[in-house]
Amino acid sequence: MSTTATTEWSAPGRTVLPPKGRLALKLRAGQRVSVVDLEGQQVMDFIASMVEDPNERLSAMFTRVSMGKWDLQEGYTIYSDRCRPMFKVVKDDVGIHNMTGGYCSKYSNSIRYGVEETWGCLDNLIGDWQEFGLDPTAINPDQCISLFMRILHHDDGRMEITEPTSRPGDTIVLEALADMYVGFSNCPEEHNPCNAFHVTPMAVVVE
Ligand SMILES: [Zn+2]
Repeated sequence: MSTTATTEWSAPGRTVLPPKGRLALKLRAGQRVSVVDLEGQQVMDFIASMVEDPNERLSAMFTRVSMGKWDLQEGYTIYSDRCRPMFKVVKDDVGIHNMTGGYCSKYSNSIRYGVEETWGCLDNLIGDWQEFGLDPTAINPDQCISLFMRILHHDDGRMEITEPTSRPGDTIVLEALADMYVGFSNCPEEHNPCNAFHVTPMAVVVE
């Protein structure tokens, strides 16, 4: 554990993440956090772990199974890998937020697009966890939900990353149901349509 780790709870306020930027938050139960797609068609990946025990992580798999849907939507609950509630989606303008799991990284860009050493969401999320002195090697792909990311699941079994439908100002509001560490990554991916090939700023508002 780093001796310089941030231990402060996050204060209310609005932060604009530049393209490819990141933000680490430590939220108390009851606080709300809004993610605003300022210019539209931009993905924000996020991970979460319980403060009580950071080895209890957000689980995209348990969340989508509890919902019976691939995409996160208003009114539903995000669960941990021990099936405890972590967030409630209290408001959502879009209804398309990918929960297949995973995040972009230099590894995925290498096998999928043949490019080396690109900056990815994983790098941002590692930075977020290091800020708290948490073990970045404990981050796993099931821990990540990709806000505004649109993946089509075709009848013939194919899945396809497409451009998001989010418009400027579209927002999702999450209410924390436990004390949590949260890491955000404004997705840097430019090799597929997930950000419409144009990465843009995002805002995060803590209440
Ligand atoms: Zn990404």
